[in-house]
Amino acid sequence: MINILGQINLMLANLVGKRKSKPVVNKNLTVNQSKAQAYDKILTRQEYQTKFPNFCNDNHLVCRDCQSQDIKEWGLTSRDDEKRVHSCSHCGQVLWRSEK
Ligand SMILES: [Zn+2]
Repeated sequence: MINILGQINLMLANLVGKRKSKPVVNKNLTVNQSKAQAYDKILTRQEYQTKFPNFCNDNHLVCRDCQSQDIKEWGLTSRDDEKRVHSCSHCGQVLWRSEK
């Protein structure tokens, strides 16, 4: 019988092994590149609405941590950056991203 779990573990080990080499590359990244990578991990507004429907009323989104409606928007690398990050003014939680 084929040991499927064993195969999956091996696949996972390979994946983790590949990931481990990444931080070495990351050392050479500029701050802006690191920010861009982090930015890609932030939910889009649409994803936020889909994932946290309880925090979206009539297209009005609130913080998923503290339900504050006081959400600030800022540019990723500079004030005028078209990549926008939306975070809670109250608790600081990063909520979603958008692009101008
Ligand atoms: Zn909050």
